Amino acid sequence: MLNIDLHSHSKCSDGMLMPQELVARAAANGAKVLALTDHDMVRGVVQAREACDRAGIRFVPGAEISITWCGRSIHIVGLQLDENNRELVANLDANRGGRIERAVEIGRRLEQQGIPGAYEGVLRQGVEPIVISRKHFSRFLVEAKICTTTTDAFEQYLKKGRPAYVFHEWTTLENAVSWIKNAGGIAVIAHPGRYDIPEKSLFALFDEFKQLGGAGIEVVTGSHGRDLYPYFTDLAKRYGFLASAGSDFHAPEENYLDVGKVPPLPEGLKPVWHDWF
Ligand code: AMP
Ligand code: MN
Ligand code: MN
Ligand code: MN
Repeated sequence: MLNIDLHSHSKCSDGMLMPQELVARAAANGAKVLALTDHDMVRGVVQAREACDRAGIRFVPGAEISITWCGRSIHIVGLQLDENNRELVANLDANRGGRIERAVEIGRRLEQQGIPGAYEGVLRQGVEPIVISRKHFSRFLVEAKICTTTTDAFEQYLKKGRPAYVFHEWTTLENAVSWIKNAGGIAVIAHPGRYDIPEKSLFALFDEFKQLGGAGIEVVTGSHGRDLYPYFTDLAKRYGFLASAGSDFHAPEENYLDVGKVPPLPEGLKPVWHDWF
């Protein structure tokens, strides 16, 4: 069985390892193929590729693009894209644009909840302000002993409907798919089981994505439970989607799946990598 992991994060977005450290960990776990898919960011790709070359791992350049679809935050993973594509790089820059103001506002909302210094606390993690995500705030809340786990921090403060949630309008589904395709990549819907939307909306998302030239969905992912794999296996078959698999690794001990320890795809699926090697 091929050990392949097509979804991972580094310190260039909201992961905690440098690209080289991420690759070393993947190698130690036996990975043979690894994609780096930082949020709206391709800056770690060069280092990750070099480290993969040295470790004898096939490298897949990628990015995870944040979009707003019907008022919801959805993630589209682009794989095998050209990280030097100027249009892509400029568009990812623009999509990240509002992160600093949003982070300041999240800090302000937490202060209103009696938790001062969150934005400054996030900066102390050594993150570049332009890539700050709610993940960084969740780590701050754990570090400050206000929450017991990062998941808890999302449940109590950071997810939609909670006091420190700040709406942000990301780019559109259409844009994300076209940026990826124009950069020579293929588009995949990330962790489809994590969106808290009715089935009818999920199907509408799949239909629209398919129509726009989207290629696949993640069936195996560290971002939703194994109990959902059969459901998304059926949907991938029904929609004629290619199937992807990735840990969505961010940091040791923070994740459900470790980088390079992704279970195999269920039988009968066409993998996104079917024609890569
Ligand atoms: P943002 O891009 O600022 O909206 O932050 C989204 C990031 O937060 C995702 O990429 C995940 O890393 C993390 N995240 C989102 N929802 C959750 C959750 N319920 N539990 C843990 N982490 C989450
Ligand atoms: Mn993340
Ligand atoms: Mn995601
Ligand atoms: Mn991710």
